[in-house]
Amino acid sequence: MKALLTRVAEATRDLLYPPHCAVCERPFLEDERLFLCAECEAKIERIDQRHVCRCGAPLPDVLDLCPECAQSERVLVQVRSFGWYEEREDPDHVLSTLIKIFKYNGERALVPLLAGYLDEAGQSLRPLVEQITFVPMWPRDERERGFNQAELLARELGQLWGIPVVAALEKIKKTEPQASLPRSERQKNLENAFGLAKFTPCASILIVDDVCTTGATLRECGQVLKESGIESIYGLTLARAAPALSE
Ligand SMILES: [Zn+2]
Ligand SMILES: [Zn+2]
Repeated sequence: MKALLTRVAEATRDLLYPPHCAVCERPFLEDERLFLCAECEAKIERIDQRHVCRCGAPLPDVLDLCPECAQSERVLVQVRSFGWYEEREDPDHVLSTLIKIFKYNGERALVPLLAGYLDEAGQSLRPLVEQITFVPMWPRDERERGFNQAELLARELGQLWGIPVVAALEKIKKTEPQASLPRSERQKNLENAFGLAKFTPCASILIVDDVCTTGATLRECGQVLKESGIESIYGLTLARAAPALSE
């Protein structure tokens, strides 16, 4: 029993103060920040916020809008993401590895670090939003994981910014994991997947999620919020998949 308690205590301590880098597992030097070594931190695939369209897509220098935004009205006024995401298993991709450790290993101690990244990427949105919400999970999936990663990030960001966090949306249909589907089928997978929860809406709201791949999830959630009468809807994610070359 004592051995077990000791192991639990050690595991808890290691969770709070991991003695090595969460990504490359190199032992920490004393003056390094928790979770990520300086080398991995320097490799983080940050998105240059000055060269993205309002939808978050990368832009060449000469353009203000991507072709899609130039052509049609978008549900979300603006979407920002902190860095690039790699869907394939790639241990060298720092941000994707961090997000996977957070989501699939349940490493909740990463929340402050990751919310700090959202804060950095979302600075232009902060003065524009009155409420923060998050992409909801199917209740059973959330029970199995033990938490909703988007909600944890949203709540931490809400604390940082002093902006109320509301559970504005519900998942009302079980969907296939987006990453398991070809990009062409992802929009259909999410059709009618979200509904409005009971909450008192303001005029502007920010939807937080961990990863945006095709943008279909944010669009579907945004559509539901729009129909409830919210005027301005924004999106903020930790990471965004680089545009596929085949698309
Ligand atoms: Zn490292
Ligand atoms: Zn655009």
